[in-house]
Amino acid sequence: MDYLEENRFKVISLNIFIHHLVKQIPFDDKTVLITFDDGYDSIFDNALPILTDKKFPFTVFINAKPIEQKLSQWMTWQQLKTLQKNNGTIANHSYAHQHLIRRLENESYFAWSKRIEKDLLKNQKLLEQKLNISNKVLAYPYGEYDQLNLKPLLAKHGFYGFAQHSGAVSLEVDRQAIPRFAFGGVYGQIDDFKIKVNALPLNAEKLELLGSDGRAIADHVLTGEEYKTQLRVTLDNNSRLAQLQCFFSGQGKLEKEIKQNQAIFKLSQKIKPGRSRFNCTAPSKQKGRFYWFSQPIIRSLPGGKWYSE
Ligand SMILES: [Zn+2]
Repeated sequence: MDYLEENRFKVISLNIFIHHLVKQIPFDDKTVLITFDDGYDSIFDNALPILTDKKFPFTVFINAKPIEQKLSQWMTWQQLKTLQKNNGTIANHSYAHQHLIRRLENESYFAWSKRIEKDLLKNQKLLEQKLNISNKVLAYPYGEYDQLNLKPLLAKHGFYGFAQHSGAVSLEVDRQAIPRFAFGGVYGQIDDFKIKVNALPLNAEKLELLGSDGRAIADHVLTGEEYKTQLRVTLDNNSRLAQLQCFFSGQGKLEKEIKQNQAIFKLSQKIKPGRSRFNCTAPSKQKGRFYWFSQPIIRSLPGGKWYSE
């Protein structure tokens, strides 16, 4: 937070962030949105005094079930009101913090969509009643979303969706798949923080996942037999395309093949079950600043079953 202050980053609230997207007002350079997921009391005890001191607005995505259950280590409704009085915005993180993309055994699309709608709207209603929130913004639990079912469900209800794949945001961002950089645990080092908060949005004309047979696949949630996807990036900036590098979780830097205004990045090994991602960067003319985007992949266990977490 000292780094943001000393280097004149502009920290904006969630409402202002959404306002930029709605009105298509370009973000100032070095604009930052600070968010937290879950309602742990460490946000109240550790983060709030620092953020209040800096006068930085921030957003906390709340899953209300543990708050309703009054679990220790979770903030109370009263503490959440205190956050709101100190530039904090509260938004939706689902009620029960489940893996929203997963179907129960033999569950139809219809039954799934009703179950998920109920969970999301129950949380939204609670936050409206208890905290008078007016935004319609969800942070996906575990950052997990898909293209074909969950994203359209959010869009249908007029919700924005925050995920957890890395990347800087531009006005062209997918409204239901807004990237965020994680800064916790192993991602808590200041050098790493500096590179990420200085990242620039890279707007590829097209990002496509291809199967090992070279055909486009519709979703990044892989439950079938596809274990080696390729990423095809279409970019009408040839020098940036030439400098673009992509890395994959656990596989390092990927082999790249350029054809005209497209680059294909190929995996060297099979994708393991769990969440992984293509992380792509290209240098900019500004020292220490990189264009950055990523493409998440979620791989089930063989046979479409899910691992427990
Ligand atoms: Zn969470």
